[in-house]
Amino acid sequence: MRRLRAGSKQVIRDINRTIILNLIKANGAISRAKLTELSSLAPPTVSEIVAGLRDQGLIIETAAVVSGRRGPRPVLLELNRDGGVAVGIMLRRDGMNLVITNLVADVIHRANEPFSSAAGPDETLELVVQTVRHEVRAAGIAWKKVIGLGVAMTGVIDRATGVCGESYILGWHDVHVGGILRAALGVPVHVDNDTMTLTVAEQHFGLGQNRDNIVLVTVGRGVGMGAFINGELLRGYRNVGAEFGHITMVLDGPTCPCGKRGCLEAIASDVGIVQAAAAVDPGEYGGATIEELTGLAAAGDVPLRQIFEQAGVALATGVSNVINLFGPELLVLTGEGLRAGDLLLEPLRRTLPRCTFGKRLEMTEIAVKPWDPAWEPWARGAASLVLDDMLRLPLYERSEGRHAVSMGRDNLVPE
Ligand SMILES: [Zn+2]
Repeated sequence: MRRLRAGSKQVIRDINRTIILNLIKANGAISRAKLTELSSLAPPTVSEIVAGLRDQGLIIETAAVVSGRRGPRPVLLELNRDGGVAVGIMLRRDGMNLVITNLVADVIHRANEPFSSAAGPDETLELVVQTVRHEVRAAGIAWKKVIGLGVAMTGVIDRATGVCGESYILGWHDVHVGGILRAALGVPVHVDNDTMTLTVAEQHFGLGQNRDNIVLVTVGRGVGMGAFINGELLRGYRNVGAEFGHITMVLDGPTCPCGKRGCLEAIASDVGIVQAAAAVDPGEYGGATIEELTGLAAAGDVPLRQIFEQAGVALATGVSNVINLFGPELLVLTGEGLRAGDLLLEPLRRTLPRCTFGKRLEMTEIAVKPWDPAWEPWARGAASLVLDDMLRLPLYERSEGRHAVSMGRDNLVPE
């Protein structure tokens, strides 16, 4: 259970500071008077917080442009985009993608580093450390401007401790990713499940801005979901919640990479499609990649088109259940599986109205975000964790970030 911070003047100060920072971000540029009005804080409190944020370089003052008005122009407060940088990494099975962003998640530097999936956690995390240092230097950024590192990876991740409990795609178990990287780099490190990071990015800097109920569904090698409901990310007990890919669609159906049978992921993911094609005609499709199968289906191969049709219908069934359960205002669909385009989306669109409850479908905006082969949105999502930490209300005690480093460098980092 998360522990609420005990009531003290410092807690109140931290909360007020976060409220002011969020109001400045949400409004783009705002006057002190408007800030005072919207925050309901006393003017001296607002002034003190603003001075602190300005001294930290997080906000800047600009002069408002008011046409036809004489005299001094009112001063507006804005987030200082260049007040610091966040580094984001998407850790994949066969490499990593890195971005450096400013304080509003604009990407200012990017890099890709391939590595072998056989490399274990020690070797991989050492490579992450080297790559981060190298790329910050290559971008011409002073190290002291780095306000933190965000890491996105598949699996069950405890954001509070930065521990990867289990990632069957990477083959990692109980790896203290956050602790190891924090000890080596000396900056706050935030680690989360990759779909969660995409959801955080969408909520702060994407289509989900100023919305409290958004769901993001990813389809590709796996099927994942991030749900931001009533203003909170849905995590479940021990962060095991939202395993959307492993809801059962067909009892005793095709085998899923998780070991169970008939999961949504076993039918709608790339792995599921490759598996189904090989089962239909081992001679014709056995050993083919998802890219090859997608190409053949797009060219009119009938049995393959049926497999994509099944995948699209299964995805629609799953997505409509999510809409029925959570009633999101926005549902974003993304991931490398969307390279299949209408092969997947046409059956999806056709099936959704058959399974959604009442007027839920009309109430939900559905946005399809095309697949970016460079994985940049994922790395940007990871960087958003750092910015999210800056904007999140500091209500709970935490073991991550700069407030507590629970693990020493000596016993964690191989010399
Ligand atoms: Zn499964």
